[in-house]
Amino acid sequence: MKIYCILFDTCPRLKEIENCFKDKDLHYADYITNSFTTTSLVSLFTGKTPSEMHRGGIGYHGTYKYFVDKENWNAKFLFNKLPEDWNIHLHGDKDNYKFVTEECCGIDREYSSYIYDVGVNENEFLQQMRDLPHDQNHFIFIKYNHYHDVAATGSGHDTAVKFFIDTINSIDFTEENSMFWLFSDHGIPHKVDHLMSPPDAWLSWVSVTDNITNEDVDKDLIYVCDFHDTVLNRVLGTELSSVDVLSPLDPNQIYVVEDGRASADINYCTTVSAITQISCGVFKQFSHYRLSNQSRTVLYETGTGNMMQVEEDTKLIDHLKNGVWGDWYMGIG
Ligand SMILES: [Zn+2]
Repeated sequence: MKIYCILFDTCPRLKEIENCFKDKDLHYADYITNSFTTTSLVSLFTGKTPSEMHRGGIGYHGTYKYFVDKENWNAKFLFNKLPEDWNIHLHGDKDNYKFVTEECCGIDREYSSYIYDVGVNENEFLQQMRDLPHDQNHFIFIKYNHYHDVAATGSGHDTAVKFFIDTINSIDFTEENSMFWLFSDHGIPHKVDHLMSPPDAWLSWVSVTDNITNEDVDKDLIYVCDFHDTVLNRVLGTELSSVDVLSPLDPNQIYVVEDGRASADINYCTTVSAITQISCGVFKQFSHYRLSNQSRTVLYETGTGNMMQVEEDTKLIDHLKNGVWGDWYMGIG
């Protein structure tokens, strides 16, 4: 079995990327994430929100690397839950191939790291993984940093997008006994504000192909926390939990995501959001900014990009107040 987990860091919800998947009849969906790389990856690999992992969430300058006792934290991560016969491969550029193990968690077992040179050999690794035997188990994580590197100025946008499209086109999505989870972890960093305005602060994209169950993934909305249980369900061959990319969408689900801007607080999260899907492409978001005790509720339509302030929704607020978030963000509990 192989799990391909491929991050196109910072890549926004671009029509070219969407079309690239849809033209190949691949799945493409809205993806609810946190607002920066570490928060999104921690939720991806643990199935938990930043505050569920640590009181105050995860700071922009890193939280994991400052823990004295890292053992309990590490135990919650997928890497350390995979059976012993699984091989772990981490791939990135020279500044990022250690991102997971330096910023997110320790991997308490042997693993392999690989470095690509930008513009030289980024995709050779994919072929190398494709060539690995199917009777072995491989967990493959790739962090493509091309869009992240151009997001600040926008210069190089076309080259980064072309590279991503070429990469998607080079993947053999028919590979048997494999799962492909391609995604972006957040939008353009300078468009993330203190009340986590959409889409950049929490609405991204994902494409999932499941050649392990061989069932079509047809959900139009996936939550960053869904990956952890989905992978364990496949790897262990049991349905550990109802959280799965193939389980039906719960129209009443409330998705909690968090952010912490370095300019506001380098150590902790500063904003929390509770989000619900009203209908396909329409979301209601309650957000709360801890530092000035400011709240806002909006309706957001992905089709038009319109965001409209609306009346508060008690269900969304109570979900936060009654969960681990009320204490940190609202001083309740
Ligand atoms: Zn990122």
